[in-house]
Amino acid sequence: MTRTAVIMAILASALIFVSHIMPTTAMAAPDNLPKGRTATAIVDDQYPASYFPNTELLGADEMRITALGTGMPNQTKKAVSISYLVELGNGDKFLFDMGMGSMGNLFSLRPDFSKLDKVFASHLHIDHVGDFMGLHIGGWLSGRYDPIHFYGPTGSKPELGSKAFIEGMQKAYAWDLATRSGALPDKGAQIVVHEFDYKLENEIVYQENGVTIRSWPAIHSLDGSVSYGLEWNGLKYVFGGDTYPNKWYIKYAADADIASHEAFLPPKALAKYFGWDLGQATYVATRIHSEPQAFGKVMSAVKPRLAVGYHSVQSPDNNAAIMDGIRKTYDGPLAIARDLMVINVTKKTIKVRMAIVDEYVLPPDVTEAYKKAPRTDQKQPGKFISSGKWEGYTPPPMPKK
Ligand SMILES: [Zn+2]
Ligand SMILES: [Zn+2]
Repeated sequence: MTRTAVIMAILASALIFVSHIMPTTAMAAPDNLPKGRTATAIVDDQYPASYFPNTELLGADEMRITALGTGMPNQTKKAVSISYLVELGNGDKFLFDMGMGSMGNLFSLRPDFSKLDKVFASHLHIDHVGDFMGLHIGGWLSGRYDPIHFYGPTGSKPELGSKAFIEGMQKAYAWDLATRSGALPDKGAQIVVHEFDYKLENEIVYQENGVTIRSWPAIHSLDGSVSYGLEWNGLKYVFGGDTYPNKWYIKYAADADIASHEAFLPPKALAKYFGWDLGQATYVATRIHSEPQAFGKVMSAVKPRLAVGYHSVQSPDNNAAIMDGIRKTYDGPLAIARDLMVINVTKKTIKVRMAIVDEYVLPPDVTEAYKKAPRTDQKQPGKFISSGKWEGYTPPPMPKK
């Protein structure tokens, strides 16, 4: 095969659809830590007051949930769009949504990107999937040498489903993929789409290594939004996505340790925030989303060990309005998530802290496996563009392989 043919073959195989569950029993290797970092175990629940990424070993029975984005579609520096990272004591990692801006917060944790290869999308609003492209490319540049997996629902029509979203997205950045493939590990270009019926009611959409993820429908704008429950080692995390209070969440989140669910701005605060009239704000906050009192009612029914609300922006007014609303209808354990809030969970303990991250981090160090992963070849521009190279500059010779 010519080099071009090889590249075309890679691009053609870059999109793979999988509709069945592939079981495996492989256990994950320890995280590849950035140089200069050592991680130590937490003894007797003596967690430091803040979470410093890559300094704590996750216990074998422990789950760590990091809110990467908790804000709105019109994101701010301190509140980007929705995303949660879930890390398990068996080494597995899962991303629930990858809203715009969340890649920056993920990157600030300097994670082992070879393990960040699974995204579960609650729905296809851009504030929930807008940075998937960023993760696909950025993660590929920073350590992922295998395909990335996108799990997401169907829509009411094929063109509104996850498969169509990824297919269209890949067409849109065909030029980007064509330039990078060959120079980066070949398999890292691939996206495997696992599209499932949005009508599934607590059915399994993922099951490997003792981890089970189930999906159930959510009520949010058009059909095709879902919530997820992740179960592992006797612990359960629920990610609500965006939803109006619904019977499926009440039923299937019932035994959650950590239940996250949107706690949107109440109508008056939303009207002020967007400059809308109260009618439109009331419609959006109480028909498309769950305002704080609705969130509180849901949590009073679910009774999790910790209720986590998100999907707002931090301001003294907003925070007060959200808290007032929730406390009218729920008096149980509660965290209003902020970006980079970290929740450690064991059967005994739940610890909520903020992560302390560097503003100017270097990429995490890549693994030997990443360095050795097959790459086809570097790219060259065509004859016409090459003929424009200025003769006044000669690049240094290429180092010997
Ligand atoms: Zn939405
Ligand atoms: Zn949303």
